[in-house]
Amino acid sequence: MTQHECLWTASAPAPRPYLDKPLPGKTDVVVVGGGYTGTSAALALAKGGARVTLLEAQSIGWGASARNGGQALSCLHDPLAHLVEKHGRDRARAMFLAAVRAAETVEQVIKDESIECDYWRSGSVEAASKPAHFETFEREQAMLYDVAGYKVQLVPKGEVASELGTQAYHGLMINPRGGSVQPAKFVHGLASAAERAGAEIHEATRVLAIERLGLPARDGSRFLVRTDRGDVHAKDVVLAANAWVGTFIPEFRGRVFPVESFILATEPLPAELAARLIPNNRVVYDTRRVLAYYRLSPDNRMVWGGEVTFSGVRPEANIHSLRRGMLRIFPELSDFKIEYYWGGTLGLTLTESAHAGMIDGMWYSMCYVGHGVTLAVYLGRQVANGILGRSVDNPFADLPIPRIPLLRDRTWYANVVKAWYGFLDRIA
Ligand SMILES: Cc1cc2nc3c(=O)[nH]c(=O)nc-3n(C[C@H](O)[C@H](O)[C@H](O)COP(=O)(O)OP(=O)(O)OC[C@H]3O[C@@H](n4cnc5c(N)ncnc54)[C@H](O)[C@@H]3O)c2cc1C
Repeated sequence: MTQHECLWTASAPAPRPYLDKPLPGKTDVVVVGGGYTGTSAALALAKGGARVTLLEAQSIGWGASARNGGQALSCLHDPLAHLVEKHGRDRARAMFLAAVRAAETVEQVIKDESIECDYWRSGSVEAASKPAHFETFEREQAMLYDVAGYKVQLVPKGEVASELGTQAYHGLMINPRGGSVQPAKFVHGLASAAERAGAEIHEATRVLAIERLGLPARDGSRFLVRTDRGDVHAKDVVLAANAWVGTFIPEFRGRVFPVESFILATEPLPAELAARLIPNNRVVYDTRRVLAYYRLSPDNRMVWGGEVTFSGVRPEANIHSLRRGMLRIFPELSDFKIEYYWGGTLGLTLTESAHAGMIDGMWYSMCYVGHGVTLAVYLGRQVANGILGRSVDNPFADLPIPRIPLLRDRTWYANVVKAWYGFLDRIA
């Protein structure tokens, strides 16, 4: 029986609710959003001695953070060659190495805070969907070493079976770093760590607007944060609301748009089959524009996401599309039931880059293009460093975010973009 329910939340212990406290009238830092960005920033701020108040409209992890594919990647969405073209060699190197440090940071924070989230240093596999994509891998491998001193391994078509039990790909690129997490356990572990360090967390608290005070108040407050449970004065604000940031920060309206991605999980597979399909238990994604990303869960389910799926359509239509994509790669899964199916929302901009910096005196970090498991944790921590007056590693600072013309109904926009990219994947 397929359940329209997220495997990760269904298979995690029931989280502690953060509903028991009145809002403080004032605080040092308000963090808006309780995903990886917000909980990581809150943890670092509280450890740095700041009085932190995290406000989450729904519940911890409700956004993308409890529902994603759990691929903790040590790279960026853009290949290094594209980054060099867009930003020049030095900034591209800094961006790439920040992503590597982001993966290391995730591993370290899980260890330091004893977060039980099934972390496994799996490394990742990028799978060439077309012959030309493997040639791109060869150039990328050389460039990664030349520009960043970073080593990846290539697997030619004839040897793919050592990594994936399928004939569908034209070669692979293996990134040995990074790993996989159980996303819901990870975000709840970060929230608990932040609370232990002294952060105050308030769920079911929606920020409606943020006003900058003309003159700082006598207690140093510079912002008035208006919520549906009352107002909070703060010296600093961290915007960690990702896809929804434009709903209360007018400057981001029409620039950050939400895109839904869907995932299914099969019933648990026999151990022998699971070990044949993904022998080294790595996380996997392919090279299409509308890519598929997949992995095994700790109990050997195939967890498959991506494909051309649409927001606002009947769930069954998206399940069919996901299942078709999965069976193209692993036909032997046709006999296995789909037991879970869910969607989640990512924030994207036209730049297809991460964005972190300052707007109108407030700090923000968002839009990690499918790499937020690591980048959100890292950049959330960098934002905290900035507030604490420490050195900051943020090569994504203040990249311009173009406005999208006529972006009012954001659902149709994301659907059209996906359909167009899906078409390009088929023809090019
Ligand atoms: C289906 C799916 C699969 C993905 N797979 C991967 C993957 O395998 N690897 C990877 O690296 N990345 C993946 N991602 C992306 C990754 O999950 C995100 O980049 C990351 O979770 C972003 O974290 P965040 O804290 O910035 O945002 P979110 O987790 O989205 O959190 C933002 C929070 O802000 C809250 N909020 C919004 N507005 C307000 C308001 N007004 N007041 C208070 N709170 C508010 C929301 O309720 C939400 O909980 C995936 C995303 C999805 C949707």
